[in-house]
Amino acid sequence: MTKQAQLEKLNKECAVICPCSLRDTATQAVPGEGSASADILFIGEAPGKKEDLEGRPFIGAAGKFLNKMLESIKMSREDVYITNIVKYRPPDNRDPIPKEIEESWPWLEAQIELIQPKLIVFLGRHALNRFFTNEQISKVHGKLLKKKFKNIKTENFFALYHPAAALYNGGIRETLLEDFKKLLNVIKMVKKNAS
Ligand code: URA
Repeated sequence: MTKQAQLEKLNKECAVICPCSLRDTATQAVPGEGSASADILFIGEAPGKKEDLEGRPFIGAAGKFLNKMLESIKMSREDVYITNIVKYRPPDNRDPIPKEIEESWPWLEAQIELIQPKLIVFLGRHALNRFFTNEQISKVHGKLLKKKFKNIKTENFFALYHPAAALYNGGIRETLLEDFKKLLNVIKMVKKNAS
């Protein structure tokens, strides 16, 4: 079975057993999308309304901006893998609560174990804080973060502001665009250090 098929199988199985209570109110799971062999794994917050209806991550306004940023570094969604810290839409787009994030963790962890990305990129503070509890996005955005986690091969993490925050705040937009441009060098460096 190809790695891509294994990832699809994993997502189907997790959608059956995921204990996250957000399942009760969501239309469907939004497992993630992209290459199972990606070097870069993007982790956002939670599916929004459009994502919930279509079952695909980052397809609304924030997703369009993410696509543009990927294009700006000559990459596309097919080159990376994009998922969220929780796989179901929280009602009224509220923030996911810690219990929901923990209930969703085994699914995300299994995705990371299978994909084995070289770099994990957090889109926003919810993803950042699941891995780095005490860090603030305003302090660590655009920087390579290192940490060893059980069951996760890579020790390389990179935090970005959430693309949705950049839609309404010009300052954050500029910072996000600048940080995003660093990604190519960061991934190059990470790969070089791993070889
Ligand atoms: N915002 C997220 O964090 N994830 C999505 O999939 C869409 C919007």
